[in-house]
Amino acid sequence: MIRDHFRVLIVDLSTGQRTISDIDGRDTVAGGSGLAAMLFEKYGFLGKPWDDPGQPLIFAIGPLTGYFPLMSKTVCAFKSPYHDQYAESHGGGRSALSLRFADADALVITGKAKSPSALIVGSRQIELKDVHYLWGTDLQVAGKILRRMFPGAGHRTILRIGPAGERQSPMACITADTYRHFGRLGGGAVMGAKNLKAIMIHGDASFPLPEGNAYAKLFEEVYAKMTDTDMMSKYHNLGTPINVAVLNDIKALPIRNLQATADPATAGITGERFAEVALLRNAACAGCPVGCIHIGFVRERFQKENRYLYRQISYDHELIFAVGSMLGVMDCFEVLKLIDVAEKMGLDVMSPGVALAWATEALGKGIITEKETLLPLAFGDSTSYQAALRHMAYGTNEFYQLLSQSTMKAAERYGGGDFACVLGQEMAGYATGETFFVSQALGLRHSHLDAGGYAYDQKPKGKTVEDAVKFLIQDEKGRCFLTSMVSCLFARGVYTDEVLANCLKSVGYGSLADNMDTVSEEIQRLRWNMRIRSGFRPENVSIPKRFTEITTWKGQIDTLFLEDLKKEYGRKILEMAG
Ligand code: SF4
Repeated sequence: MIRDHFRVLIVDLSTGQRTISDIDGRDTVAGGSGLAAMLFEKYGFLGKPWDDPGQPLIFAIGPLTGYFPLMSKTVCAFKSPYHDQYAESHGGGRSALSLRFADADALVITGKAKSPSALIVGSRQIELKDVHYLWGTDLQVAGKILRRMFPGAGHRTILRIGPAGERQSPMACITADTYRHFGRLGGGAVMGAKNLKAIMIHGDASFPLPEGNAYAKLFEEVYAKMTDTDMMSKYHNLGTPINVAVLNDIKALPIRNLQATADPATAGITGERFAEVALLRNAACAGCPVGCIHIGFVRERFQKENRYLYRQISYDHELIFAVGSMLGVMDCFEVLKLIDVAEKMGLDVMSPGVALAWATEALGKGIITEKETLLPLAFGDSTSYQAALRHMAYGTNEFYQLLSQSTMKAAERYGGGDFACVLGQEMAGYATGETFFVSQALGLRHSHLDAGGYAYDQKPKGKTVEDAVKFLIQDEKGRCFLTSMVSCLFARGVYTDEVLANCLKSVGYGSLADNMDTVSEEIQRLRWNMRIRSGFRPENVSIPKRFTEITTWKGQIDTLFLEDLKKEYGRKILEMAG
């Protein structure tokens, strides 16, 4: 499985044609993010719309997947229904290891199936099955049926979409193995547009590990850092929900559509509170000894005589922020109920949560009425929000159809753009200040993980535009290489450049290890090149007024710094894209 080229499986759903292609580029784009961008350049159509049947849906893994822990993400690339530009979304679960053991570095899906279908991929099998009877089922029902239809637990991944994806909402996610997601920018809609309900990847091959002591010794060292030191304990212990209390304490938690950044009531939804009353167990992506996935429960009474059923729901900081603090829902069980509905519908939890926060404020201000919302949306009213999430998934009326495209689309139609909490896409759960706002608004994935702007904001004062831009570009470059390795970004403290170089050498990628800096730069350039050529214009990105009205622990937002930073970072992005 150590190859100086990529082994790529290509499936055309329109014709049924399947190809296995050996493609060069290991020493220039490494894998993961770099490989996905390279494959999009080769198979994608930058000038055609996102739902053109020819557009590819790409899944790519990295050179260390299967060899080292936490190399467990898969990069999904596509042209996004959210902005009709090049996009990446990252997901875990068993997806990466399944692809590795199916003996592929990437899967490229083009065309459109004639009827709702499931694609089955293994090391000796690529098959398309009609599953029209699954169209319209929610993710939970589809998951149950698919697992029965395609046994092989532990060695296969099931990627699937719900009603939101079938309806091609840009807020639809692809769910991987129940608890992980390719969440943002509408990958679920791309599957929907291809008539693809599910993708099953069987990791049914095996391969030898590198011979000699060097690899085994290094593996033990890396593994020990992950498990025997404090470096990862935060993720295992409370998980990312630890951030809820931390951000609330520094007045950086978005609350009630970012009308506040701190509130004592958030005590009901902190990581500590979830652990105390709602946590059932931890789970992990395949190949990860950390297990940051925290699973709570919701129970439902189904008979008067105290008969209950319960469901297991994973939670993390971003979800708690989006359908908790942002909607003023400050009870952890109510938050879990909202996550449960969004999950079943196949919606990315973050975007609809933020969109509904905007709708609630818009309703309060009289910009829209209950004629549009169909419900008396009010901060804290979890029951109405559960119904609203279903309306968003099914696009019940014109209002929900627009809102489930994006908050800005709804604001363009009804007004209220000033208080739309959108930074490229609906914001992530950090109101730390100017650098984060610019970083998410202009970042390639519009994700808080594009670069550590949220961390930079928390450094002492005295920074300049030049320093902040330098930080964002350097930090993004490092993350580009990590996501090309498909490392979980939680492991970035363990996988330093030196450790990564040693890992690559130990399995036989010496040349890549010797050129990491050049390769990182090339990957960064290529990704931005795809984004710009598909229509992204940094100068057209605006940061809504609401972001300039907030107060954090540092005081008021510095609007001059914000504007200058946005301008300069945008200029550098264009420069990077070449
Ligand atoms: S730390 Fe969490 S997200 Fe990262 S690989 Fe492990 S279980 Fe998956």
